[in-house]
Amino acid sequence: SLSEKLQNVFKNLRGKGRLSEADVATALKEVKMALLEADVNFKVVKNFIKSVQERAVGQDVMSSLTPGQMVIKIVNEEMVNLMGSETTEISFKPGNEITVIMMCGLQGAGKTTTTAKLAGKFKSKGKKPLLAACDIYRPAAIEQLQINGDKQGVPVFTMGDKHKPVNIAKAAIEHAAKNNYNVVILDTAGRLHIDEDMMNELIEIKENVNVHQAILVVDSMTGQDAVNVAEMFNNKIGIDGVILTKLDGDTRGGAALSIRAVTGKPILYVGMGEKLSDLEQFYPDRMASRILGMGDILTLIDKAQIDFDEDKARQLEKKIKKAEFDFNDFLEQMQQIKKMGGIGDILKMMPGGMGGGLKDTEIDENALSGVEAIIYSMTKAERANPDIINPSRKKRIAKGAGVDISEVNKLVKQFEQMKKMMKQFSGMMGGKGAKRGKF
Ligand code: GDP
Ligand code: MG
Repeated sequence: SLSEKLQNVFKNLRGKGRLSEADVATALKEVKMALLEADVNFKVVKNFIKSVQERAVGQDVMSSLTPGQMVIKIVNEEMVNLMGSETTEISFKPGNEITVIMMCGLQGAGKTTTTAKLAGKFKSKGKKPLLAACDIYRPAAIEQLQINGDKQGVPVFTMGDKHKPVNIAKAAIEHAAKNNYNVVILDTAGRLHIDEDMMNELIEIKENVNVHQAILVVDSMTGQDAVNVAEMFNNKIGIDGVILTKLDGDTRGGAALSIRAVTGKPILYVGMGEKLSDLEQFYPDRMASRILGMGDILTLIDKAQIDFDEDKARQLEKKIKKAEFDFNDFLEQMQQIKKMGGIGDILKMMPGGMGGGLKDTEIDENALSGVEAIIYSMTKAERANPDIINPSRKKRIAKGAGVDISEVNKLVKQFEQMKKMMKQFSGMMGGKGAKRGKF
């Protein structure tokens, strides 16, 4: 019945006091799956789930959220924290001092592409970047950098492939100083796997050149391998930040969470495609919702927070306790739901399971707007005091709403039942304190 359906919606839209261990366990099972599927390191997942569990159990549920949504809200916040909360900018040397940035990473990670992408970003910030071709091994590496540099309108310093990378780096910095460049980006050589030669080469550059930022480029598609790579580079060379490439693929980006957790180094940018404009600032909150993959549930949570007026909720709670809940309140509740995008949209936002059975409940939006029309046809007095709605009033209301009188009868009857149920429900919940459930 309609009242049952509405009951379900309200029940699932609202919190219920405090999160129990069972609430948290149920929601976290889904979160754990989502994280593992997103290729987050197993150990990281384990620790993460444990700390969320500790934080979540016993927490007050916001009045407009279900327990499951409340857990997800906490998980999301913790993930954002884990990834550094805020966007980290690449730091530059003050004044006209030359900032030297060394790009490193495995072969194919996207170093050369990202070098050119970064140069474009720096240029638009008013910097004067110079690229240095330090990959002397990969055939056509120099040419690739030159082509990309050209596209960005940024010059490339090269000495061919007969000099040691460290010497190319040194010469590039000298050239930059003489020609008023203030950023030098070193495009170094990668290897297919972690390899002593590669590491030594990078260490040699770092020891002989004043590298201000060592930036590791990792391919997000390699998932957990990306994390191992990041850990090794950080231990051997010491990195200042990470750029995660190829996030435009179908990867869920779990590497982002693990890298930060394992190395403690911030993610600076993310590569979102092969085009040189496809480099985006890293936003921990966006990444968190991507990794969680909880559809738009986070948007729903945001909306719920904004839209639900705690004061109104408390007033309503009082009314229901005193059995003063009337058609005006009923209408207001329906409008709250509409503000949140309508029941249909809310249902769509619920990923499997998290809606707590809501998904199986088919709610007819048309039936709801019919209900609304009936209520709008009531006078103020009738809405505030449904008891006065006698047969002649019902007839008038039906005519006004353009429905059969039986529809009005049904609604009035269902409303009475619903009121009774809500009263019982509010008794069960206790409903003390500002953050408690509405009914
Ligand atoms: P390097 O060996 O580390 O210098 O890697 P490259 O810069 O040569 O990139 C290897 C391949 O990855 C190239 O085909 C790039 O176009 C591609 N690539 C780099 N970054 C991205 C990205 O963010 N998204 C996608 N789809 N491809 C990328
Ligand atoms: Mg390269």
